[in-house]
Amino acid sequence: MALQTTFAEINLKALSHNLSVVRKKTGNRNILAVVKANAYGHGAAEISKHLLKNGISHLGVAFTGEAIQLREAGLEAPILVFFDRDHIEECFNYDLTPVVFDVNTAKKISKEAGRRKRKIAIHIKVDTGMGRLGFTLDRAPVEISKIACLENIILEGFMSHFSDADLQDKEFANQQLKSFLLLKKELGRRKITFKYTHIANSAAVLAMTDAHFNMVRPGIMLYGYGADNLKPVLNLKSKVLLIKKVPPGTPISYARTFITKRKSVIATIPVGYADGYNRKLSNRGEVLINGKRAPVIGRVCMDTVMVDVTDISGVNMDSEVVLIGCQGKEEITAADIADKIGTIPYEILTSIGQRIKRVYR
Ligand SMILES: *Cc1c(COP(=O)(O)O)cnc(C)c1O
Repeated sequence: MALQTTFAEINLKALSHNLSVVRKKTGNRNILAVVKANAYGHGAAEISKHLLKNGISHLGVAFTGEAIQLREAGLEAPILVFFDRDHIEECFNYDLTPVVFDVNTAKKISKEAGRRKRKIAIHIKVDTGMGRLGFTLDRAPVEISKIACLENIILEGFMSHFSDADLQDKEFANQQLKSFLLLKKELGRRKITFKYTHIANSAAVLAMTDAHFNMVRPGIMLYGYGADNLKPVLNLKSKVLLIKKVPPGTPISYARTFITKRKSVIATIPVGYADGYNRKLSNRGEVLINGKRAPVIGRVCMDTVMVDVTDISGVNMDSEVVLIGCQGKEEITAADIADKIGTIPYEILTSIGQRIKRVYR
């Protein structure tokens, strides 16, 4: 049981809003909501349920275990598994849809399907420039043709992934799109067709209409990042654990990297790097208390962080602390934190630890 004061408040209204932005951009295309990494830290089962209730058709996860957790939570929608070729039996047992990027795995899947006297739908991934997974352009037609000959396999989806569709300069992304289209055409000539074609992540949903095909795979934008008209879904909130007044010259936290220069009021907050409040925020982060920004002072600890509230009046032992989210007129987003420490909002959100309870509003 997570009995910790700090909690993540998940705003389902914001999630619905962000989904409506996806819809506005993509019309009636199928939406495969990416809910890997515990729905980017938001809680995969709850987020998936809400999105399915609001009309998305498919879910996407990284690993088989994530898909099984969703099945065990009672979700019945199709689930694509992006990054796994080691759990073929589970694909059958839990009715999952594997993404396939090598012929050998396709053969194993076909064999297992034969043993079970059933068929299985798979999605084929091609590498158009991400350099990660997928059949390479030169080999794709031949190898995918081999898979098309296998018994018991239904080629349901044809997919690829952009490496930089978020850039202003779409030259490389357009080149990827062109390769994807060429491959699709070449396969068509070989009478290999698919029910679903998809390549669009959030960035492409937002900025590359030509890349929507008949399915899109938004992740981060559902959670409120990637465009100004999106609303962050997750707020990270806490409460002061202790307020104390200290004289000038008081060292704060490990290694005494901060020493008070004046008579100060210090608040200790029960959240630390074990909860995803990154240690690089030491002497750099800010939190909101009483609608004002309070700077993080000293090192972020595993379970706690200290902030300077000397300049904020009325802070007491019951004061709410906002680490991510709005308070009064101030806002701190996961993107603000990410900028500060040289990472991306994805990492900030997915780092929010297991001890933090997710509360759905
Ligand atoms: C994570 C992921 C996405 C979603 O990307 P966003 O940038 O969060 O929209 C889509 N497709 C695949 C294969 C992914 O791994």
